[in-house]
Amino acid sequence: MESCIFCRIVSGDMASDKVYEDEEILAFNDINPKAPTHIVVIPKMHIATLNELEEGHAALVGKLFLAARRMAEEQGFAEAGYRTVINCNRLAGQSVFHIHLHVLAGRLMGWPPG
Ligand code: 5GP
Ligand code: ZN
Repeated sequence: MESCIFCRIVSGDMASDKVYEDEEILAFNDINPKAPTHIVVIPKMHIATLNELEEGHAALVGKLFLAARRMAEEQGFAEAGYRTVINCNRLAGQSVFHIHLHVLAGRLMGWPPG
């Protein structure tokens, strides 16, 4: 998927400010942060949106959340709180069509989200 920005980050074609990496997932700081901490956690495998998720991806998606939990502990915002978000398609404002978990922390979050 050469046209996909996040696949290009995975391949090293494009730079990113990496926070965590293993064989299956990658986490990096968002280029346009919406909170003092804004990390994007992605599977290395290209899955465009939540609508393309299959049973076989269940463990992979679980790993995105486990990475978020670990980073929250390591970076010290677990107790204060944080928000995880996956936007899907137009009405939710998805702009990069490679599934990703936003991890936002460091400020009070409004609810419901805009
Ligand atoms: P979405 O709007 O699809 O839920 O989230 C996409 C996120 O990716 C946005 O928060 C946006 O700032 C971030 N983003 C887009 N392009 C890049 C990039 O090239 N590098 C990084 N680090 N983040 C990006
Ligand atoms: Zn991709």
